Amino acid sequence: MPHRKHGRRVLQIRHVDAGSCNGCEQELTACTGPAYDWQHLGLDLVASPRHADALLVTGPMSDTMARPLNHVYSAIPQPKIVIAFGDCAAGCGVFQHAYGVRGGLDTADLTIPGCPPEPVQAIKALRTWMTTLTDPETEPKDSGRR
Ligand code: SF4
Repeated sequence: MPHRKHGRRVLQIRHVDAGSCNGCEQELTACTGPAYDWQHLGLDLVASPRHADALLVTGPMSDTMARPLNHVYSAIPQPKIVIAFGDCAAGCGVFQHAYGVRGGLDTADLTIPGCPPEPVQAIKALRTWMTTLTDPETEPKDSGRR
């Protein structure tokens, strides 16, 4: 049977700052605040990677953050999604060739461009992309019987 896609209604996101200048964090914070209020659109930041569906990374990946980022990624249950938030995480930011940075993520499932991304554009990109994902809540449950 083909894998059906119904769109995802909710996305729980664990954010990791991998050496950002904090510009991306300011816009990310704005997304969660009363002006943009992304929770009412099914998006939320969670503290524990164990509760997350997605890893959202900001910053150009400093050498010192590579290992912690890997730990967080490992702790997120499958199927996990990686989001590059901002040009630095996408590998085309102003710090790409700076000392002590690796120049962004090797791969990401979704890239949200901008330096920093604007909240409206970021939320729009996430919501559009969510419609293409499979929602585990609407997938038929496997009873385990064969
Ligand atoms: S993309 Fe721009 S705002 Fe975001 S961390 Fe890089 S320099 Fe800062």
